[in-house]
Formats: sequence, structure tokens, C-alpha cells
Amino acid sequence: MYLIEVIPLIRIPANGPQILSYYFNQNLKVGSVIEITINHRQAQAIVISSLPLTDRKMILKKSSYQIKKANKLLFENPQVTRYQLKIASWISKNYYSPLGISLATILPSFFGKKKYDLSDTVIDTTVHSSTDTERTNSYKSVIAPAKEILQSLLPDINEHIKNTGQILILVPDSTISTYYYNELGNLGFDPIQISSQIKNKEFFEKWKNISSGNAQIIIGTRTAIFSPFNNLGLVIIEDSSNEMYKSDMTPKYRATDLALEVARLNNADVVIADQIPDIESYFKSINLGIRMVRKEIKNSNPIKLVDMVPERLQDNLSMFSSELKSEIIQTVNNGGKVLIFAPRRGYASLYICSNCGQATNCPNCDIVMRVHKHSQYMLNCHHCGLIKEVPKFCPNCQSGNMRPAGYPGSQKIYDELLRYIEFGQLKKTPILILDSDVVKNDTETEEIIKEVVKPWPIILIATAMILSHRYNLNFDLIGVTSIDALSNFSDFKTEEKLLITLNKLLDFNPRKCLLQTSKIESRINAVIDKQDVLEFYNEELQDRKLLFYPPFSRIVKLIYKTNDRAKSLSALRLLSEKLKMAIAQNKLEKQIVLKDNFAEYGYRENNYFVSVLILKCAQDYTDIRGLLRYVPNDWSIDIDPNSIT
Ligand SMILES: [Zn+2]
Ligand SMILES: [Zn+2]
Ligand SMILES: [Zn+2]
Repeated sequence: MYLIEVIPLIRIPANGPQILSYYFNQNLKVGSVIEITINHRQAQAIVISSLPLTDRKMILKKSSYQIKKANKLLFENPQVTRYQLKIASWISKNYYSPLGISLATILPSFFGKKKYDLSDTVIDTTVHSSTDTERTNSYKSVIAPAKEILQSLLPDINEHIKNTGQILILVPDSTISTYYYNELGNLGFDPIQISSQIKNKEFFEKWKNISSGNAQIIIGTRTAIFSPFNNLGLVIIEDSSNEMYKSDMTPKYRATDLALEVARLNNADVVIADQIPDIESYFKSINLGIRMVRKEIKNSNPIKLVDMVPERLQDNLSMFSSELKSEIIQTVNNGGKVLIFAPRRGYASLYICSNCGQATNCPNCDIVMRVHKHSQYMLNCHHCGLIKEVPKFCPNCQSGNMRPAGYPGSQKIYDELLRYIEFGQLKKTPILILDSDVVKNDTETEEIIKEVVKPWPIILIATAMILSHRYNLNFDLIGVTSIDALSNFSDFKTEEKLLITLNKLLDFNPRKCLLQTSKIESRINAVIDKQDVLEFYNEELQDRKLLFYPPFSRIVKLIYKTNDRAKSLSALRLLSEKLKMAIAQNKLEKQIVLKDNFAEYGYRENNYFVSVLILKCAQDYTDIRGLLRYVPNDWSIDIDPNSIT
């Protein structure tokens, strides 16, 4: 008999043992796959060690574990490499996620199926350790407009192709992936594209091509990082601050950080390609003296803020200022293309009572319902998806005077433009909407984009979805109906995100970009007006240092969901007390700050009460895991979350 240690490919609680022991009647190779029974469930498990029982008898005598026999051998030849085990354990350690689910995440979708035997691809190339000094990989940052990024990257790409190294181009979404795939193809390269949507058979073929070294350029979204690289020489990360890089399922890893670890393990060079760095990479670059290669951006600044307060005083109740309206008319008359950037889909952000001002909330969630317009107004909850008819009377004051209000969404903007055409103010022009209500997949999006590029004037109303198309699309005029609606969230990153979004809009090369606001005096609007992003970053860094926010700390977001309000509050209080005690006992007050504003950090979503605890940990604090031991298994843990709300 042999004693086998395995990692089961299922979720087991993160604060229990992650590696399990079983008996088996033959010696097994590291990376082979067996079937085990755990908690009455059958599961696949990866073998990480195998020892004859005689060697371990003494240890076993002392052990209190009831060791069971494994069910059967599924793959005798290794299917998993030591390199993959390293990546999985890095994820598990960094994001405090169970090891088994971390390993399952990095394995391809076809893994474990009999007809996709990976034996031939499991050739363990030497993986460099961090102490390897034979060659230090270079790290640089390229800053350029979206349409010039690829040109800026070509020298690096060509050099690595010449040295027959593999290149990984990590992109945030499939639209940008396809852009790079087509462009590199046009330049005579032969890239392959990896995404989470590809079918098993195709994925298996691509997997083998990467593993054999046949594929030289690998372009893809998050999934591509887990490819079985063979001599990876260069990792390019495009649009590094994009939120799509963060996984929303456990393990909640950030693909950009993982890509850096993959580069380190493979001793590959790194190029970060951005239109504008976010605050964290800006901070990193000034501190580590990283080279920032910045392409000069042309002098003329198309951005102009439009104050909506005088418009209202002059009885212009439209969502368009007279300036934006006349620019739209003029652009269309000149045969140009217009993009109206809508902060939200739907018709309006609120449905309110004109008498008492009360907005209609979702009965399942504690948030306001959005207004959508079909044959009539409907209310729609963007949290739980509930759709219901608009109330005829105000539940608060019984007034029948109810109406849509708040920030206009894409549908309302559409109606307004249509009215301009009906009243002969605007030439007859195709008006299109691009948002997640109108398009459900990439194919439908492409159909709209095809209409947009036709050789006649067009008006496109679009949400942030349009930003992925800035690599190959131009607009003559861009109007943002309300930039206030884009910064209407209480999160420490809100203003930074707004600046990055506006910068991406400029990638469409507009002649003019009109940003409407009712808060012309705000701090962020002064920054936008001057277009001095780096000065804002420097000020913001001082604030964040003071408030102990990233990049000066790492955020750990702890989330608990229950359908019982009392239970939700007591769980929150209990964990908060436990963590405070642990912080005090270990004298960690200088390194860890617990944010537990109970009123602010509890909300209701789809009839669940959600409690949130925020921990801010010093960057040099290395034992986050030690602290997270106190977190019960039914809480979920999000390290480096996209937002703290
Ligand atoms: Zn909606
Ligand atoms: Zn009312
Ligand atoms: Zn709801």
C-alpha cells in the first residue's frame, strides 16, 4: 500500500487542511489523477506525493486522521505540471482561497475528460525560482493612445519573436482580443486567441500548440494566463487598470498580478501598455524608477466642460445643453459621427413622487429601481433583476403625481434626439443604442459597430461598453450627458476611474468632447478642465497616504450574506470584535485598520442581508492569512477588490 497526498479539485474550507491523504495500492506519479470520496461526494484529485506505507507507519500511528482508500486511478500519466501547482499555490496564498478550487480554476475546461489526455503536454520545463539571478527580467510601461499602442509594442514583439520566445498579450475582453488578433494577423504574425468561451476540442488543440512551442503569440483574456507556456519571453498587459481583470468568483484573483507572477516564474520580460496609468501603477513607476515610455499626445485639448446650472435657469429642461445640441446638429450636417456617452442604460435612474419626492425602491433590495420604457414605463432592479409596473400612487403620500427622474439613461436620450428629428431641428439621421439591454452578445455588438462605420452620419448612444471599441473607431463629436452620474458613488477610486474613462473617450479622436455637469466647481472638474491628471494623482496620493488606502495599504473585503437581519448584524459584530481583539493582542494597530461602520456597511440585496467588513493592511504586512484564520467559512473573502462598497 502507498500513502498518497492529493489536492482535491473541489472547494474545501480555506481554514482547514488543503492537502488530503489517501491509501492506494500502487505507487503514483506526481500530477496523476485519482478519484476520491470526500463528504459523500466523488471528486477528482491531483496526486502531489506517493510514499510506500512502511516509511510512514510511525507518523500514521500518531495521526488521528481516519485515512480512507482512494476510489480509483483516472490518469496514470501526469496531467498537471509542477509549474501549475506553483501557480495554484500562489493564488491560494495571495487571495486566501482554498487550494483545490485555485487549482481547478487554472486547469483548462476539458481537464479530466478521458478523450483529452494531457500526458504529452506535461513536460516540466525548468521553472526559475525567485533567487535565480542568471537573467533579470525587464519591466517597463508604455503609455500611448489606444490606436498607437500596437505600433509602440512592435519593437518588443519583433525582438522576442526573433529570439523564438513565446509572447503573451493579456487583454481585458474579447473585443480587444479580436482587435489584436486581426491586427497582428495583418502584420504577418500567426497569433492564437484564448478565451473562456472556446469549445473543448479547439481549446485542447491550442493547448497542445502552446505547450509544444508552435504557437508564438498568445492573445487572450484572463484564461490565457494559465496556458502551458514553453519558453515564455514576454508578457504584455494591455489596459492594466481595467476592472475586467478581476475575477468575480473564488478565487478572486487579479489577472494583472497573476500575469506578473507568471512572468517571474518564466523569467519573462513585462510590458504594461496603458492609455493612462492608474494611480497604483503611477505610484509604482515613480517609486521603483520604472521606465515609462510616453508617446506625446497632441496638443489640442478637445475636452470642454458645460455648466448645466445656467441652462436650467434659462428653462432648458432637456438633457442636452444648447451647446451640445447645436454641436450635434452641426456635426450631423457636416456628415460626421456623434457618440453620446450615456452613464446608464434604461430610461431614467429614478421613479419619484412629484409631491413628496420619494423614489421607488426595490422590495427585495434597499436600492432605487431604474425606469425602463417599453410600451409603457416599467421599473427594473439592476441588482436582483426584478421587473414591475410603475406604482400609480405614491406609497408615502398617496399622490398620483409620479414620474421618471434623475439621470437620463440611453432610452431617454434616444427619445429626445428622435424629438429633435420630428420637429425638424435635426436632419434625419440613424440613431443607435449600444448597451447591455440592446445587445446580448459579441455578435449583436458587432452588428451595431458595422452600422456605425458606414459612410454616412450617425448618432450612437452608448454606455461604457463602447470603450472596448476605441482601438479602431472614431467619432467627430462626443457628448457626455452628465459626468456627475459617472462619479456618483462613494468609493475612494471613483474620481480616478472617471479620469481614466474620459481619457479612453479621447481615444476616439473627437474634434470636440463636451462634458455636461451641474457641479462645475467640484475638485474633479477643475482637474478635467486643466487636464492635469498627474497633478491630481500626486494630490490624491497624499490623501490616500493619510487615509491609509491603496497603494499604501492592501484592502481585504469580507462579505457575509444571510436572509436573517438579526443574524447578519450579529455575525458582523462578532467578527468585528474578534478581529479587533486579534489586532490588539498582536499589536498590529499600526499595520491593520478595521473599518466597520455598521450603518454604512450593511445592505439588502435580493432579500439577502449583506454585511461588509473592510480591512486595510499595510503593504509590508505579510501575515494576512494569519489574520484571516478568524474569518468563519461562511464569509467570502475578496483581497484587492474593485471597490469597497
Ligand atoms: Zn435596466
Ligand atoms: Zn409622495
Ligand atoms: Zn432588487
